[in-house]
Amino acid sequence: MDIFRAMAENGHEQLIFNYDRSSGLRMIIALHDTTLGPGLGGMRNWRYKSEDEAIADALRLSRGMTYKNAFAGIDFGGSKCVIFNDPDDKSDILLRAAGRFVEMMGGRIYTGEDVGLTPDDVEVMAQSTRYLVGRPHKSGDPSKAAALGTYASIRASLQHVFGDASPKGRRIAIQGAGNVGSDLARRLAADGAELFVSDVRAERAEAVAESTGAQVLDPDAIYDVQCDVFSPCALGLSVSGETIDRFRTRIICGSANNQLAVPEMAEELRRRGILYAPDFIVNGGGIVNIADEFEDGGYNRERAFARVERIGERLRQVYLRAEADGITTESAAERIAEDRIAALAQQQRHFVPRRV
Ligand code: NAD
Repeated sequence: MDIFRAMAENGHEQLIFNYDRSSGLRMIIALHDTTLGPGLGGMRNWRYKSEDEAIADALRLSRGMTYKNAFAGIDFGGSKCVIFNDPDDKSDILLRAAGRFVEMMGGRIYTGEDVGLTPDDVEVMAQSTRYLVGRPHKSGDPSKAAALGTYASIRASLQHVFGDASPKGRRIAIQGAGNVGSDLARRLAADGAELFVSDVRAERAEAVAESTGAQVLDPDAIYDVQCDVFSPCALGLSVSGETIDRFRTRIICGSANNQLAVPEMAEELRRRGILYAPDFIVNGGGIVNIADEFEDGGYNRERAFARVERIGERLRQVYLRAEADGITTESAAERIAEDRIAALAQQQRHFVPRRV
C-alpha cells in the first residue's frame, strides 16, 4: 500500500505503528482529523489477513469517527486503534502494552471497547493508561443510549415522511434482537407500534416477541415485510444489491454500523423513494453518552440521555438539507459535519496567540 497516498486521499493526520517486544503486540493508531478536539474512537482487535487490510481498516474507521463525532456535536476528532493480533491470543501483557501505547499519546486520543475486546480487557488496559472511556464506573454500557438515539431517529423519520412522529399503529420491522434491538422494541411497543422482529438466534427474537407482542419472522423473510420502517439492528450490510429490490418500506433507520454494502446504495434508496437515516447519525447515541464523561463533575446519565434524544432534531436537519441540495441523506450528513469542522478550522486560522 502507498501509505502517504492513502492518507492524503482522505486527509488523515497521523498513522502510528506500535510494536511490543514482550507480547508481540502490533497496534496501529490512526488519527484522521483533530480540528474539533482529541481523537475519540474505539479499539478493535481483529484477525486481519494482511498488514494492508489492518491499515486500511484503521484509516477507514478513524475517518468514520471524525464524521460521527462532528455530526454528533461533540468536541472530539476522529481516531481508531487497531490491534493486528489474533483476538483468541489476547494476554494481559499484550493488553497492558496496548494501554501503554495509548498513554504515550498523552491525551491526543481516547479509546474504549470495540469489536474483539471485552469490558474486562479494557479494565486490564486501564492498568497502564488513563485515556479510556465507557468504563463501568463511568458511562458504562452504551447500548441503552444507542437504542434511545435510534428511537429518536425513527420518530424524526416518521415525522418527515408522514407528518406525524408517533409510532402508534406504524408497522416497524427490527432486524436483530440484541442489546439495541430489544430495548428499541420495548420503547416502540410502549408507543403502540406493530412490530416484526428477526434474529439468527431465534431465542432472542422469541424473548422480544414475548415481552412486546412482536411477530417473529425468519431472518431472511424480514426483508419482504410490508412496513413503514425497516430498522437494521444486527450486523452491517443490510442494504445490498441482493436485498434492495425486496424492501417494502418507506424508511430505513436502525443502529447497525455500515448498513450500505456499497456507497451507491444511498442513491439507489433515494431513487426508490425510501428515506435512509444515515447509520452513523442514528447510532451516535453511544458516543454522545460517552462524551458526557468529560463534562465538569463527570458523567450524568440524565443530561447525557437528554442530549442523545436531540439526535432526532439533527436528523431532521439532514433530511431538509438533502432535499434542498438534491443529494442523498448520507452526503447531506457529511456536508453538515464538514461545515462544522471547516468553521472551527477557520476560527483557528484567525486565532492570534496572546503575547506573554
Ligand atoms: P448485539 O450483538 O447485542 O445484537 C446483535 C443481534 O443481531 C444478535 O442478537 C445477533 O444474533 C443478531 N444477528 C446477527 N446477524 C443477524 C441477521 N442476519 N439477522 C438477524 N439477526 C442477526 O449488538 P447490539 O449491541 O445490539 O448492536 C446492534 C448493532 O448496532 C451493531 O451493528 C452495532 O455495531 C451497532 N451499534 C451498537 C452500539 C451499542 O452501544 N451497543 C452503538 C453503536 C452502534
